[in-house]
Amino acid sequence: MSINATYTYLNTRQQVIIDLDERAQTSLESLNTNLSGLIASYAINDYKQLIATETAKPHVSAVLVEDNNFAEIIGVSTYLSGKIKNEKGIVEDFDNKKASMLEQLQQAYASPSIDITSHSGKLLGKVTLYLSDAVLDERLNLLIKETLLSTVFITIILITLLFISIRLFVLRHLSTIVDSLSMVDNKGLPLQPLNANGPREIQLLSASINHMISDITSSRNILQQQHEELDKLNESLELRVRQRTTELRKARDEANNANQAKSMFLANMSHELRTPMHAIISFTSLALKREQDQKNLHFLENIKVSSERLTQLLNSLPDLSKLEAGKMQAEFATHDLGKILSKTIAQLESLLKPKNLKILFDEQTSLQAYVDENLYAQVAVNLIANAIKFSPEQGEISIRLIRSSIESDEAPVDAVTLIITDNGMGIPDDQIDLIFEQFVQSDRTYSNSGGTGLGLAISKQIVQLHNGLIWAESPPRGKQRGTALQVEIPISQPKLQEPE
Ligand code: ADP
Repeated sequence: MSINATYTYLNTRQQVIIDLDERAQTSLESLNTNLSGLIASYAINDYKQLIATETAKPHVSAVLVEDNNFAEIIGVSTYLSGKIKNEKGIVEDFDNKKASMLEQLQQAYASPSIDITSHSGKLLGKVTLYLSDAVLDERLNLLIKETLLSTVFITIILITLLFISIRLFVLRHLSTIVDSLSMVDNKGLPLQPLNANGPREIQLLSASINHMISDITSSRNILQQQHEELDKLNESLELRVRQRTTELRKARDEANNANQAKSMFLANMSHELRTPMHAIISFTSLALKREQDQKNLHFLENIKVSSERLTQLLNSLPDLSKLEAGKMQAEFATHDLGKILSKTIAQLESLLKPKNLKILFDEQTSLQAYVDENLYAQVAVNLIANAIKFSPEQGEISIRLIRSSIESDEAPVDAVTLIITDNGMGIPDDQIDLIFEQFVQSDRTYSNSGGTGLGLAISKQIVQLHNGLIWAESPPRGKQRGTALQVEIPISQPKLQEPE
């Protein structure tokens, strides 16, 4: 638009200049024609009047004449005369001594001078026409106003047209798309695919939105499907877990019942069997005193040993089953383990004599732990009795209590460890952990132990009831490698174990 305005401006300007030139040309030609006669006849008044009339025309600023004819008469080389229009538009005589007039001429546009010739072809002078640029300015100002007005008008029309066409071709379709998008279903998606007509871009936009909606819909469907499958899986898993839990509860109840039945049976059986066993042992002892025959004596001896072992077993079984079932009654309190051990050692004193054994224990030892006194004493009896049983003649048994700590997932637990060391035959490495199982006896001791293989199993259960640890060490040290049985019990109150 501005190019067009500029073009119009330049074009008009050019036309104004051409127009001025044409007018100047016409004026000059008429001046030439009229002046030549007036100059030749020296009609000075008409000559002045003609120039004044010409100067008064709106497009003329001044008219100057170099008059050779008159110059010849008055004897000068050049006679310059003419008229000039002042600022107020009044025509005055030209005076080449007035600087303001000369300046005015400099600023005016001078047409090329034309010669004034007589009929005979004599050069009478030259006339120069100075054009006023007031006409040009006026025309140009008018043109600028017109151009500005038309530009504003055209701009308004163009903007209106643009707005109408945007509304008609773009906004109308966009609002259709927006309306369709706002009609959504409960999943937040448009109810129908968009079907927008209109310009290609709008169609492309609507096609992309449709594509996007169909992608979202299919993704949602897949997700929904996966959710449903997961829900089903979850339900079936929950069902299976419930079934399994019921089965496990049933199995646990059955096992508990069976265990109870076993405990009751063992308790009853051991009670029922112990009475006849006492009778067998008593009568065998009597028979041994009276029998003279060596062979019979040997048989009776065997009967007595086996009966005693059986009684021992019968005594141990109820304890073991109670411990396994978590039914063992325990009264925990803080006890001085040194005192418990002193008492236990005193009870076993009589067993030391046959093999002339020595027990090394510092009776001043005083370390406390939270234990059931009787059960702790029972463990000590089992371990010291074993040490006595498996010690060689004149052997030494060392009994010590030391402070220790049990590693745990949280902070280490303060504990007291009982270490019973003998210098007996020891336990082979491959059996050192097995001896804590029920009815297990080491190969090395089996033939002469006379035990039941239950003492350590019971001790292990009791130690576990105290949240403690029990283990054996038997480092190779020649023939008499010896054994160290260790029991570590926490000092603090133990948590009673839940029955499994
Ligand atoms: P029992 O002593 O009645 O056989 P235990 O459970 O007390 O049953 O011991 C299991 C086995 O562990 C013993 O038969 C023996 O083989 C071995 N044992 C236990 N203590 C010692 C020990 N101090 N020296 C060597 N062997 C031992």
